[in-house]
Amino acid sequence: LAGPAAHRDDTARIFGLETEYGISVSGARIDAAQVAMLMFQPMVRSERSTNTYVDNGSRLYLDVGAHPEVATAEARTPRDMMVCDGAGELIMRAMALEAQERLHRDHPQARIHVFKNNLDSAGNSCGCHENYLVRRRVPLKAIETQLLPFLISRQIYTGAGHTDGRAWTYTQRAGVVDETVSSATTRSRPMVNTRDEPHADPDSFRRLHVIIGDSNRSQWATMMKAATTHYVLCAMEWSARTGEANGLEGIALADPITANLAVDAQGPDAQLGLADGSHATALELQLRILDVVENFAARHPLVDGHDFDGVLGQWRWVLGLLADRDLPALAHVVDWACKRVTIEGIRKRRHLSEAQVRQLDLDYHDVANGALYESLLAHGRMRTLAGADELERAVHEPPRRTRAVLRGRFVQEARRARARFSCDWTALHVQEPFRQSVTLLDPFDDRGDAQCRALLDRLAALPATCET
Ligand code: ATP
Ligand code: MG
Ligand code: MG
Repeated sequence: LAGPAAHRDDTARIFGLETEYGISVSGARIDAAQVAMLMFQPMVRSERSTNTYVDNGSRLYLDVGAHPEVATAEARTPRDMMVCDGAGELIMRAMALEAQERLHRDHPQARIHVFKNNLDSAGNSCGCHENYLVRRRVPLKAIETQLLPFLISRQIYTGAGHTDGRAWTYTQRAGVVDETVSSATTRSRPMVNTRDEPHADPDSFRRLHVIIGDSNRSQWATMMKAATTHYVLCAMEWSARTGEANGLEGIALADPITANLAVDAQGPDAQLGLADGSHATALELQLRILDVVENFAARHPLVDGHDFDGVLGQWRWVLGLLADRDLPALAHVVDWACKRVTIEGIRKRRHLSEAQVRQLDLDYHDVANGALYESLLAHGRMRTLAGADELERAVHEPPRRTRAVLRGRFVQEARRARARFSCDWTALHVQEPFRQSVTLLDPFDDRGDAQCRALLDRLAALPATCET
């Protein structure tokens, strides 16, 4: 596979985050499916489809069950992935507020709510899938025995929490996943999906599709979940390549489904049974994994611009806060802690009913009309890693150093010229005013081959008035 040399180094990675949003309306009797269609109406008008790619190379589509989804463009770093996901929030918000304005002609009180969460009030679930390019030599067995214990226990700092108005859980989705590692998605919900669609050279890579994980509002949590997972994957890939042990061999869980439910209910203190008959709390397991990764990082130099030290330091720091049960400090970065501290604080001052508590929980996740999270941001209560300007820019700028750069330019030029076009992760097609297709098999390649560059030049040469 030709392309920039970086993809041959063994720790370069592609990150992608798919976020499904839940929709509801207040102030008018309209169902969610209708509102979702209203949000996508401008797109249907211009593209005759509810499935497209946007300026920054991300995919925007309306999934079954009135769930809009943004699948971020391919990112090279966890931070770029987080920024692209934040841009996705802005895109959803703009679509909702624009649709709301049209709705106001007939329903002046209507407000559209777009939830970046995983469980709506009716108990329906929305997914948040992480995508990682991994070397194909990593055996599936290792994903089950080494990655899964990490993914289950990391929820103590990545979980988004949930309340029924009385008690709190640490995650949103633990009750929803019912299998460990599988290639099915329709009937069962595995924690890691192994359906084989690498969107890259299939001989070298697979796309690891992580289903177990909450949507995060916290930028810190969004970045850290990808960054910590990246390091664990690095250690696993290294073992797969060298045949040497990496230290993660002893962490296999006796029963991942039970462990997952325990983490959901008890968080850091959840006692997890390991396959070797011993026990560890979720926090102890994370500390063990961090020791292994730190050790690994000390022997393998930082590559590809990843800030090993920064992330490892943050990881140790958050585990320390969890050990100290320092909820006020955790509340600045960890979604479950933030909601618990903030909402319980309001409950004490204002004597909220259970229904009001549930409402506040939902409001935290509302990217269109939510007040709680916005107010936390405005008061500097939530740590932000990317400011509003950077997120706004990322609506139109693809993540760097991946083929998303080419897709973004393609989409922008095609729209400007009003060409008829389509694309997917690995191909670009123009249907009118000329017919031409190119493939982008290498996700690390942001320059494109001669054919791709010729296609982009041809599009750029079209006048802006070209009608289809
Ligand atoms: P579904 O919505 O049914 O889960 P899906 O997971 O196949 O489908 P998309 O919603 O299209 O797919 O999202 C694909 C995600 O994978 C995007 O975030 C994208 O950036 C990411 N991605 C694309 N190519 C690669 C790759 N080679 N390796 C890892 N991730 C990739
Ligand atoms: Mg998807
Ligand atoms: Mg997916």
